[in-house]
Amino acid sequence: MPMVTMRCPCTGQQVPTGLDMDQASWETLPVVVSTMRCPACGAEHVWSKTYARCEPARPVDPPSHP
Ligand SMILES: [Zn+2]
Repeated sequence: MPMVTMRCPCTGQQVPTGLDMDQASWETLPVVVSTMRCPACGAEHVWSKTYARCEPARPVDPPSHP
């Protein structure tokens, strides 16, 4: 199941919001604002559909090249 992720403003990592939904559901989701406990930095972030994205579950990206 694809998971909804957002970019952590502190670490720049793409982190899971804890939501899992398929692309079709994501497309029809209204713009909602929610909060999440960030697994990357431990802070609580406010996020909305505008800043999140739905992407297929996949292995962690290899380190990006500079
Ligand atoms: Zn964070």
